[in-house]
Amino acid sequence: MTVGRVGVLGAGTMGRGIAQLAALGGYETVLYDVAPTLAEAGAEGLLAALDKGAERGRWSVDDAKAAAARVETATELEGLRGCGLVIEAAPEKLELKREIFTSLAAAVGPEPVFASNTSSLRVTEIAAGVPGPGRVVGMHFFNPPALMKLVEVVAAERSSEEALATATAVAERMGRTPIRAKDSPGFVANRLARPFSLESLRILGDGVADAPTIDRAVRLGGGFRMGPFELLDLIGLDVNLEIARSFFAQGGEPERWRPSPIQEKLVAEGRFGRKSGHGYFEYGEGQQREPDPDLGIAAPTLDPSELAKIDPAAGEVLTRLFAQIANEAAFAREEEIASGADMETAMKLGFNWPIGPLAITELIGPRRAVETLDRLRAEHGEAYATAPRLRAEAEAA
Ligand code: NAD
Repeated sequence: MTVGRVGVLGAGTMGRGIAQLAALGGYETVLYDVAPTLAEAGAEGLLAALDKGAERGRWSVDDAKAAAARVETATELEGLRGCGLVIEAAPEKLELKREIFTSLAAAVGPEPVFASNTSSLRVTEIAAGVPGPGRVVGMHFFNPPALMKLVEVVAAERSSEEALATATAVAERMGRTPIRAKDSPGFVANRLARPFSLESLRILGDGVADAPTIDRAVRLGGGFRMGPFELLDLIGLDVNLEIARSFFAQGGEPERWRPSPIQEKLVAEGRFGRKSGHGYFEYGEGQQREPDPDLGIAAPTLDPSELAKIDPAAGEVLTRLFAQIANEAAFAREEEIASGADMETAMKLGFNWPIGPLAITELIGPRRAVETLDRLRAEHGEAYATAPRLRAEAEAA
């Protein structure tokens, strides 16, 4: 279906950013919220962001003006009539999202495709009971939508190919890079990123290295822009813990996804990271991390002589981390949550990883990954249970 008009439900953080992309992509854009003040505040934020982008040279003043002229607000669902696609970015509550789509279907008729921006609910469950469930898909944008290129187009059990194609085409015209994801816990990027924090926390808990050393090894030897602990402090330990709990529950409580007791303790103590002034690090007035020295390492690497320049523990840190990244990717490949190419794209665009999880698997090699996991399993238990696919690849290697 050719879409000329796009609706966005919810004018909060995500909704206004998504509406901005729609307007810049040339769509007549309707930004809806439940009260006029909310819809207008969203539109004002959007217009201010368009001006700022023009000032910074991200688009021309004329483009910003043309995009602004395409935006209207609504507080009645009938205002979304004529939209070919409506993207929902309301609070993360299953019943609310279901209710919204059911009322929306009554207001706008059978034609429009409905997309949910949920990050943790099952799209299939949101679609259940909505008239025409085939038209319901997921469109998972990342925060902030205007800067993050990735959009996970999520195929729920009954999503039609046509609805998925519509969501994909609109994401492309919004200047994003869509990938196709299965309706599974956390979809692709958030799921493949699980080991980045969880394995780092186990490395810390096992006393292999402290948080600054682990972060440095991951930046300098792994080539990641941020280490896991500074990233956790930035996201918020409480926010990350909620995500960890949601994955653990949705995945049927696999040990490798068990939330970290270290993080549970820090959150209970009110150490939430940057926003509370302390997390894994302390954040005083104007306090900044020391810039990393240039050690001339071509990261990412597992070369022991290179890693020894960082710290004696750097080799073990990266070997463990890469083994678990390879393991998670192997479980994900078994479950066919996305194509291999889309997994690589998801991690590079969604989390700024230097290389994707399949390239990391290649770097460590399946055999070494499995040897590492088996050694750690003997010591620490089922958090290191190996994906059968990775073991098969190790045996074939
Ligand atoms: P938010 O709280 O900033 O905005 C939610 C908006 O929805 C508010 O303006 C609220 O007034 C509005 N709303 C409430 N009831 C509504 C209804 N019945 N119909 C329409 N709008 C209604 O939340 P957010 O951070 O923008 O998150 C929105 C969605 O996007 C959630 O599902 C969230 O999981 C998902 N998401 C968020 C992020 C993020 O980092 N914030 C990233 C990816 C996905």
